[in-house]
Amino acid sequence: MSRQDGRRAAGPLNPVGAFVAAAVILLEVTWLFAALPGAALVSDLGAMLVAGWATTACVGVARRHPAPLRRFWTLLALTMALAALGRAIWTVQRLVGGGLPHTPAVGVVFTAGILTGTAALLSSPSAPRTVVGRARTLLDGVIVALALVPMGWVLVFRGVAAAELADPARTLGLLFPMFDLMQLTILVAVSGPARPIWRPMSILAASLTLRVVADVVYVSLVARADYTAGHPIDLCWPLSYLLIGLATRRPPPPDCDGTDDTAESPLPPWWRVALPYLPVGGAIIAVVLARRPTGQTPQLVFVTMMVLLAALALRQGLAANENLRLVVRLRRLAYGDQLTGLPNRLLFSRRLRLALREGPPVAVLLLDLDGFKQVNDRFGHATGDTLLTGLAARMRAAVDGDGTIARLGGDEFAVLVDGDRPVSPERLAERLLDALRPSEGEEDVGVHPSASIGIAEYGPQHASHSDLLRDADIAMYAAKAAGKSAYRTCTPALRESAVSRAELIADLRRAVDEEQLHLEFQPIVDLGTGAVRSAEALVRWRHPRLGMLPPAKFLPLAEETGLILPIDRWVIHQACRAAATWRGRVPEATVAVNIAAAHLRRPDLIATVTAATSAAGLAPRALTLELTESALIEGTDAVLERLHQLRELGIRIAIDDFGTGYSSLSYLHRIPATELKIDRSFVSRLGADDRAYATVEMVTRLAGAFDLAVVAEGVETERQHDAVAAIGCPRGQGYLYGRPDGAAMVGQDRA
Ligand code: C2E
Ligand code: MG
Ligand code: MG
Repeated sequence: MSRQDGRRAAGPLNPVGAFVAAAVILLEVTWLFAALPGAALVSDLGAMLVAGWATTACVGVARRHPAPLRRFWTLLALTMALAALGRAIWTVQRLVGGGLPHTPAVGVVFTAGILTGTAALLSSPSAPRTVVGRARTLLDGVIVALALVPMGWVLVFRGVAAAELADPARTLGLLFPMFDLMQLTILVAVSGPARPIWRPMSILAASLTLRVVADVVYVSLVARADYTAGHPIDLCWPLSYLLIGLATRRPPPPDCDGTDDTAESPLPPWWRVALPYLPVGGAIIAVVLARRPTGQTPQLVFVTMMVLLAALALRQGLAANENLRLVVRLRRLAYGDQLTGLPNRLLFSRRLRLALREGPPVAVLLLDLDGFKQVNDRFGHATGDTLLTGLAARMRAAVDGDGTIARLGGDEFAVLVDGDRPVSPERLAERLLDALRPSEGEEDVGVHPSASIGIAEYGPQHASHSDLLRDADIAMYAAKAAGKSAYRTCTPALRESAVSRAELIADLRRAVDEEQLHLEFQPIVDLGTGAVRSAEALVRWRHPRLGMLPPAKFLPLAEETGLILPIDRWVIHQACRAAATWRGRVPEATVAVNIAAAHLRRPDLIATVTAATSAAGLAPRALTLELTESALIEGTDAVLERLHQLRELGIRIAIDDFGTGYSSLSYLHRIPATELKIDRSFVSRLGADDRAYATVEMVTRLAGAFDLAVVAEGVETERQHDAVAAIGCPRGQGYLYGRPDGAAMVGQDRA
């Protein structure tokens, strides 16, 4: 059977062994309490049998549990085996020599058991993973145990004759409660603040507690010479072994493979932090009390206190070391970008402020990746992250120590150039753009965002670092507007135009609420009959100061700021209402509305559209959504799914400005379009350019083959009209038939 199979087969253990072990203890209980003859032997045999069973249980579970737990159970198995062995030696020596055999052989075996037991606790699933962490936990246990020695001295040992203490094996026997408490402390420490605690650890805690009770009682009985083998307290030992055997029946914790390092563990409660120190206080009091009768500190107590001090010092050293590492890690977390390892915005602002305090020359380059959002949308965030990491490394290499490069967030980076600059910011910008140009291999994947860089140099006009960043931002937008993969330096003129841009954005925010938007409709004509059965809604902005603005003047801003969503929503509602009134006169009237790419990416598009049609009482098939080719090509699967849903509702979908995108025709198969609108650029060249004629003809045929409706856009002259009609394009739109106008001409047919 393979290891994998073995693990899957891990089920509850065979219960027979557990029942036998429990029965042995029950028999022993009756025997000892009834004080039947041979109680000592029964007690020894009982402990041996139960420890032996616990050993096999631990071995069994060690074989079946995943690797990290295997060591834990193996060490426990060893501990149980040593307990059985120690007890066997004890029994033999007791029977041979009489009395309590606190012999070196017994001492060695039991001590080995303490070591393996402690090692097991330190390799439990919730124990610290680092060597330093484990050492500190072990020291916690040692400190508690050592602190108990002076207390034990005062409470128990003082009565024990000095001669007896001189025998090391004997003393060791009397020190067992100390070791138990050490282990219990370690157990509490390694159980960690995580809840719920892994069940075997609680059972182990119960087992250890039993042993503490047993050993303490045993030691005090022995010290008062009241102990005889077969005393009822003996029952505690097999019981504690039974518990360990039973603990094996619990399943492994869910994250025992050690992969869950990132899990945020809660802070431990104060008492757990103070745990190793509380007994030290008790020890100090005990030392004072120990001096009482003679005025001298007993040697054992003195030595213990010295060792305790050393342990405390060592522990503090380890804790300080851990804290230092933690501080380094925290600093990295606070000031570093997790993904790219570059400094983050916080650190960048700090450095920038420091640089400004030193005074000029200081320059900031603000860099924004163009087209990164599309990469994320199309290929997913994992690809986006890999790309970002790669680009960040390239940019860092390009900066090459001539500045500080930081990731401000998302796809935004910044470089700070200060001090005795060896390189001009413009030169650095060129180096960055060069570094980002795709190498040959990358072009194939189709993933190659470029960057737009804005440069601002610190001058008297800057009151603070945020002014400088704002100027870099302005320059970056200018670079974006200039086309991708460019840089611009902020100039006073640029700043001024940007301020008016900011004002325009503020105005646009109010435009929808204050009803400054306004719709015009342009007729779409049936070229065969001259009938107007449809119109396209085109938005205008009646700006309070600037007058009537065409979409080109404000839609790009609206797209950038997200204001396009409320605008489009308003347009859809108005257009549906208008179409509903047309249909009162002309039952087959329809309306076309333009939808921005950003809107198409939003899941609420469907809700908006259905709300508008039902509010207006318009049949969904009377509404056409016009989407540009590029919006459709960049669309993700979710967008495609949304388009299909819209089609299922009956809404029609037109591909606007067809022919201007650089796509292959294959996407026509995927997109559930009902209509193509041939771009104005082809129509305007009809009659002058044979290739334009061929293009319009071909698109018309293509649409016929795909069973799509066709509209020729931008028909301005009779000549263009004749050409379009001759090609056989069924419908047309353009100034020749009617300009966009407040009053729709639907129903007023062209002669
Ligand atoms: P479009 O969807 O291709 O709209 C046709 C554009 O061509 C309109 O410009 C229209 O006035 C113009 N046009 C029509 N016939 C002729 C002609 O014969 N000659 C010439 N030279 N031009 C003609 P407009 O109204 O400036 O709209 C421009 C673009 O803005 C639209 O292109 C559309 O993409 C977008 N747009 C307009 N309204 C909205 C809207 O409400 N929402 C969204 N998202 N975009 C809109
Ligand atoms: Mg359109
Ligand atoms: Mg168009």
